[in-house]
Parts: sequence; structure tokens; C-alpha cells
Amino acid sequence: MSIPTIGVLALQGDVREHLAALAAADAAARPVRRPEELAGLDGLVLPGGESTTISKLAVLFGLMEPVREAIRDGLPVYGTCAGLIMLADKILDPSPGPWGPGETPSSGPETFGGIDMIVRRNAFGRQNESFEASVDVTGIEGGPVEGVFIRAPWVESVGAETRVLAEYDGHVVAVRQGNVMATSFHPELTGDHRVHELFVHTVRTGS
Ligand code: GLN
Repeated sequence: MSIPTIGVLALQGDVREHLAALAAADAAARPVRRPEELAGLDGLVLPGGESTTISKLAVLFGLMEPVREAIRDGLPVYGTCAGLIMLADKILDPSPGPWGPGETPSSGPETFGGIDMIVRRNAFGRQNESFEASVDVTGIEGGPVEGVFIRAPWVESVGAETRVLAEYDGHVVAVRQGNVMATSFHPELTGDHRVHELFVHTVRTGS
């Protein structure tokens, strides 16, 4: 494929910034709000925002199962921050109540899953609401990327199939399992499109 078509899950969060970053990385990018809009995609981006909201809206819009299925079928996916949370097979430290029907203090947002990892939500948030830091990412040449961390999660542990791509301050902040990758930080908020280029490369080549 020469120019891949990549969707951005457009339920909530920084959708526009991802659409722009993907366009700059030579992909045809379009928002996805309905299950039918998953058809024909070569890849999908899950934006940053608020994972509890994205999760609830995914259920409401009938996207939870179709996205899970697409991931299982091998669709390449890239998630940032809340998007990383949505790709976790398991979440720690869910938001404090009040909890809706069926939720309990120990249940985090329902996720799509796809990466064998345990993620701690808002892990960096308590000390620092928001900060920037240089992060070396495996597979990205030309020096570290500027990581923008906003109430960011970290990856507490990974399974045997999950590759760690970056750490910051002793914590895992970028991972990849097969064609599914995720970062705790937001490359879409910087002018540096190398992480999106890496994802577009994965979509194009399958590696
Ligand atoms: N703390 C948010 C959550 O739990 C993620 C923040 C972000 O995406 N910038 O979903």
C-alpha cells in the first residue's frame, strides 16, 4: 500500500492533533465514531483524553466489541496516554468514585485490551500534573523525542510477548506487542512526528 488509511477513534480526546500528525506522516487519516467506519482501515489510533469517558462512549456507540475484534484480527493500533490505558489487558488504580451501576471501587474502565500489560492510571499525576521530558524510544532514530506527560499512566508490568520501547525515571512509558503500540506520552502535541512515522511504517510494512 502506498498511502495507508488510518482511523482516529473520535469519541473524546485530542483527535484533531492525531489527524494532523498522521497526515504529516503521510497517511490518509479520518475520524472513526461508528463501527461501520472501521471498515477499510489499515490502522487505528486511540487518542489521549480520559479513558473512563472513552470507555463509556465506546460501549454506548457499539464500538467496544468491534474494536476488540479488529485488534484480535491483527489491525495495527497505536494508543497515546488514555489510548495506552484502553490497550491494557489490566488496569490498576481506577478513578475514585462515585461509581456507576455495575462498577466497583476495584474496577477500572473497561478496556479494548490487546497488549499484555498492567497499567497504572494517573501514575505520574500525583507528583506532577503535567511535565515534559526527553525520552529515548527504541526504533526511533535522530535522538530522543520530547515526551509530553499529562496525568500520565505508566506500565507497571509487561507479559512475555510485550516489548518495552522506552522508560522514563525507571518506569515503562512505551510498549509494543505485535502491531499494537502505545506511549504514556503525547507525540501528537509536539511538532515531532517520528513516533507517528514509526506507526505508519508498521502499518505499511506489517513490521
Ligand atoms: N489520566 C487520563 C486517564 O486516566 C489519561 C490522561 C491523558 O490521556 N492525557 O484516562
